[in-house]
Amino acid sequence: MYSHQWLNGDEIKLPTGKVVCIGRNYVEHAQELNNPVPDEPVLFIKPSTALVGTASDVVLQAALSPIHYEAELSVLIDKPLTHASADEVREAIVGVGVALDLTRREAQSALKEKGLPWEIAKAFDGSCVQSPFVHMGETDDLAALQYGLDINGASRQRGDTSLMITPVISLICHLTQYFTLLPGDIVLTGTPKGVGQLNDGDALTLSLSGETVAQFNCVES
Ligand code: ZN
Repeated sequence: MYSHQWLNGDEIKLPTGKVVCIGRNYVEHAQELNNPVPDEPVLFIKPSTALVGTASDVVLQAALSPIHYEAELSVLIDKPLTHASADEVREAIVGVGVALDLTRREAQSALKEKGLPWEIAKAFDGSCVQSPFVHMGETDDLAALQYGLDINGASRQRGDTSLMITPVISLICHLTQYFTLLPGDIVLTGTPKGVGQLNDGDALTLSLSGETVAQFNCVES
């Protein structure tokens, strides 16, 4: 069973909530998938059942393959937020981590073409791989954070929040116009360029501000 963890292994005493995500928050990622850069954030939700941790192998369900990775800065919320102001958002952010927004890209493309919802491509069980969180102080600068994904020792994605189309605080203000965030909910803030497919046996490292926050292997089953 997933539960939120701090980097030192302590459990975070918050429920496992929903995950609110943004599509296309980096220009170069929109371009690599031949998507237009949106005027307004593209939002979607993964249920709490999508969350898995990084303490053991991440299982890639063969029946759902191929599965692609998107490494994203993730933000943990500890206060209710509805129509939130920037100050309210800053006060509610308790931790930051790195997550993989796992995506069945072929299924998603087929659904998008037909104008259908994406859930079976984006919100399936295990589709949000979440690292432990690092404490976030109110004075820490969310607008200048670097994070990354290495696979089998090679750098695959590098994110920098200063390059986001919609910065983290503005993004959360915006999404709470539609969706109330509750303590224990997570926000995924969009993937930089470099997305690709995961394979059986891949060894992944997620890093935040130059520090490793998760290391695990992918196993197809
Ligand atoms: Zn994503």
